[in-house]
Amino acid sequence: MEKTDIITRNKRETATRNPSIYSLTLEELQAWMVEQGEKPFRATQVYEWLYQKRVSSFSDMTNLPKALREKLDDHFVITTLKTLVQQTSQDGTMKFLFELHDGYSIETVLMRHDYGNSICVTTQVGCRIGCTFCASTLGGLKRHLEAGEIAAQVVKVQKALDEQGERVSSIVVMGIGEPFDNYDELIKFLKIVNHKKGLNIGARHITVSTSGIIPKIYQFADEGMQINFAISLHAPTTELRTKLMPINKAYPLPKLMEAVRYYIEKTGRRVTFEYGLFGGVNDQIEHAEQLAELIKGLKCHVNLIPVNYVPERNYVRTPREQIFAFERALKKHGINVTIRREQGHDIDAACGQLRAKERKEETR
Ligand code: SAH
Repeated sequence: MEKTDIITRNKRETATRNPSIYSLTLEELQAWMVEQGEKPFRATQVYEWLYQKRVSSFSDMTNLPKALREKLDDHFVITTLKTLVQQTSQDGTMKFLFELHDGYSIETVLMRHDYGNSICVTTQVGCRIGCTFCASTLGGLKRHLEAGEIAAQVVKVQKALDEQGERVSSIVVMGIGEPFDNYDELIKFLKIVNHKKGLNIGARHITVSTSGIIPKIYQFADEGMQINFAISLHAPTTELRTKLMPINKAYPLPKLMEAVRYYIEKTGRRVTFEYGLFGGVNDQIEHAEQLAELIKGLKCHVNLIPVNYVPERNYVRTPREQIFAFERALKKHGINVTIRREQGHDIDAACGQLRAKERKEETR
């Protein structure tokens, strides 16, 4: 056994710690204050220190009584994330590798757009969905992230941006993991970052993407949140989708489309279908025609994602001309479609490539 394996294992087994305060919604923190015999407004003050002033220590929360600061310090930690690597790509994309309290590591990416800075957050250490094209699922699922571990990614990246006088303006929940497989923590995270006294990122600037866990789509539709919603469709027929995504066996395409229809009716919101173009597999004009037929009449948008090369996977890229022909075929049917722009190629920050290469041995 490698020495690092032993160290990591010991660290995991002995990891006892206070919970991260980032895991608490404002309401939960208010309830905690009341339990401690404090006034609920103290929670708002703490939230402002955490998310607006972004301090890293309770002792910096100078408008709180010293005894309360000490009590907070006895019960919580602020963040449990440690920045191991921070890289910036030529196009400005930033990639962060964070270590969790138990030695696992996760990745977070910040993308620059003309409309602002968008952060791509991770929700699980690994993934158990098993999509045949994705690098995140290769080692299986190690564990779920807590809401505070997801929120801390945003705070950490925002702190890095503070140095440049910039702000995280939108969030995409499209990093490692299946967000709907960690549903409760996801919802808590969304409430925390969306809260006016929290990071105050508008729901319309947050997008959640799922591989299609149907019961959770119904639940999400009923949450009453104005969050953008994306579905990884990737195939226009259930046979083909099963080949690409084994989750289609448990949650087949026709049932998925029923759930999507429910979502649109219930929320009145437009959904995004993500459609990865895998060379020679799902990228022919007949697939575009089938896709148009499948989604016609739905309030939706299609985002075409040219496959990102994953060494362990065999998929090849669709030639540029064919990508445009696919796009034109959809447009002819009046479908809203965009082609995803690629960013951060030189730092492996592209979709599906997120994995902790540097820590591969330790996270096994
Ligand atoms: N688990 C969520 C979030 C995943 S990441 C989901 O499945 O939706 C965001 C998108 O990248 C998903 O649509 C995913 O299917 C896609 N993706 C994963 N690996 C890819 C690859 N190698 N090339 C292109 N897209 C990929």
